[in-house]
Amino acid sequence: MSISGWMGLAVAVSLAVLPARAAGKVKVLIVDGQNNHNYRAMTPFMKAQLEKTGRFAVDVSTSPPQKSPSSSWDSWRPAFGQYDVVMSNYNGEPWPEPVQKAFLKYVWEGGGAVIVHAANNAFPGWTEYDRMIGLGWRPAQYSDRVFLDDEGRLVRLPPGRDVGAGHGAQHEFQIRVRMPGHPVTKDMPLKWMHAKDELYHGQRGPAESFNLLATAYSDPKAGGTGKHEPMAWWVPYGKGKVFTTVMGHVSGESIPGIECVGFVTVMNRACEWVATGAVTIPVPADFPTETEVRLVPKR
Ligand code: ZN
Repeated sequence: MSISGWMGLAVAVSLAVLPARAAGKVKVLIVDGQNNHNYRAMTPFMKAQLEKTGRFAVDVSTSPPQKSPSSSWDSWRPAFGQYDVVMSNYNGEPWPEPVQKAFLKYVWEGGGAVIVHAANNAFPGWTEYDRMIGLGWRPAQYSDRVFLDDEGRLVRLPPGRDVGAGHGAQHEFQIRVRMPGHPVTKDMPLKWMHAKDELYHGQRGPAESFNLLATAYSDPKAGGTGKHEPMAWWVPYGKGKVFTTVMGHVSGESIPGIECVGFVTVMNRACEWVATGAVTIPVPADFPTETEVRLVPKR
């Protein structure tokens, strides 16, 4: 056999042993269209970061704008079932009932969902969405509050106790990994600096089967609560998984919250993990350190 013949055989053998999942790309659908944040800047940037890993094929479904006639909504039916991950960058008017039902069915039957920043502000009063996301941007009376105390113990307060959803002044802050063995946070430094962002506090929800991966100390000097607030977590919903990061504020053209290598790594790995149950995307060499913020290089 010629050299090229041998090489062809070697390639054929190595392809044959690849698991079917790894051979194909993970299919991601980003949903946007209404948001009190600059989703027009966010979505293309996040899509590019996902695609840069080589692991994902990404489509975008953009809803009708605010105050659209029902005829526009009638023709918006994202094909959730054709994707492995639905990433929500949506915070706006309620989806039409068929879209809500299709989304619940998709996750319940095993689909993955990733909720970015203000997407957890969406849909107050939609009970199943609250269950899926665990915690959302809701007023104090709405539901339970969950945070960690200084010893790292989970504290749960009933509706009305302590503050509702809010944030202090934007600043750079340290993320603390609370579940270092989880595939999304594995190999990350236990403490790393996140770029300038809003530090959400007082999130409220049922937080059933709540898996808290990372927190940040909400400093009263920056208008915070003095508690360790949840920054990234996941919740099972039926056979599916729903991962939330409240990092990722973008308004105007300044986008450090999503340019942070830490944010990008969490997003990329969360998408892979909710889809496949495993993570192959490494923590990059330029990951933030305990004291230093790192942004992805400009193109
Ligand atoms: Zn924000």
